Amino acid sequence: MSFPALERLRAGLAQRRDNLALRHRQVLESAQGTHVNLAGQEWLSFCSNDYLGLANHPALIAAVCDAAPKMGVGAGASHLVCGHHAAHQAFELAFAEFVGAPAALSFSTGYMANLAVVTALIERTGVVFADKLNHASLNDAAVLSRARVLRFAHRDLAGLEQQLSACTRQDKLVVSDGVFSMDGDMADVPRLLALCEKYDAWLLIDDAHGFGVLGASGRGILEHYGVQSPRIIYLATLGKAAGVAGAVVAGEIEVIEWLIQIARTYIYTTAAPPILSAALSASLREIARAAPQRARLDELIAQLRAGLQQQGWPLMDSHTPIQPVVLGSNETTLAVSERLAQQHIWVPAIRPPTVPENTGRLRITLSAQHTTQDVERLLDALGDFHGK
Ligand SMILES: *Cc1c(COP(=O)(O)O)cnc(C)c1O
Repeated sequence: MSFPALERLRAGLAQRRDNLALRHRQVLESAQGTHVNLAGQEWLSFCSNDYLGLANHPALIAAVCDAAPKMGVGAGASHLVCGHHAAHQAFELAFAEFVGAPAALSFSTGYMANLAVVTALIERTGVVFADKLNHASLNDAAVLSRARVLRFAHRDLAGLEQQLSACTRQDKLVVSDGVFSMDGDMADVPRLLALCEKYDAWLLIDDAHGFGVLGASGRGILEHYGVQSPRIIYLATLGKAAGVAGAVVAGEIEVIEWLIQIARTYIYTTAAPPILSAALSASLREIARAAPQRARLDELIAQLRAGLQQQGWPLMDSHTPIQPVVLGSNETTLAVSERLAQQHIWVPAIRPPTVPENTGRLRITLSAQHTTQDVERLLDALGDFHGK
């Protein structure tokens, strides 16, 4: 029997294969780390967002082992029904205190948290102003809000101001990644905030890659810049530097209360397992005392950038653990990534649509657990390739 719908999928997949755009998954056989196991062999990994090495940290493992017999595995229901556990509550309070916000609310994933904030704060009569390189979840959130969406060129604050000053609608929300996930550069939060104050807009900062990494005590991009404002909705994801899973939104008490009432990705989903909140409370304690790991990251970043520059690779304006090397075509990007793979060095080839056309790149991410020798090995392998 003919099944044209399935044929169309086959054709779509074949086309992706032809464009070198087909993606596939590697199967990890060890815990996350800088040296991981794939198909029985050890690889040196520069892929993970586990910047502080907390994903496999003894204190977090102990927190889960201690919590599991007391609270079980599943949350059983959504937060508003009967799934809101003391462990969730304790983590939210600890997070709010840590970042100096009046209140905080946890979500199962960063993706869901972004959908929640944007759709709860802005309705179809409002406007969302978004950096063009924002994370996909922020873009999807803006579409889902059914508001008008205006995208401004990456970090172009003059462009944003033009859009804000021309806007006649009342409800406005400016959204930006804190650290941009594929470029590693940072939003100018103080200037974004000044514009939001001038034009009475909310400011949502998605600090997925800054929380734990930026600021003297790891409180993220707001600590880095020394800014705080009731206008800012601060969002941290917890599967990256925090080493666990989920996300948390911090802001004014009314903002958090509003999200609890309105946000569909909070209300209509089962709460994350409370053991994860127990792990997250342990993670906050580790983050607060991880100043040596953050200093170590800075050293590794400097080592990598100096080496790449010496070899003539194009550097990006990034001083975070995300250090992309833009190579252009899918072909070149895959070729370099595969060449590294021959030496069991794992660096992902990031291609469109994750990044704009012809900006395929290696996305090198560093962890405080990398050694100077690890980075040297990567540089040696890249140097080989560049010379030939
Ligand atoms: C990873 C990421 C997210 C999504 O967070 P998850 O918890 O993985 O769903 C959102 N925003 C940015 C900028 C990210 O890098």
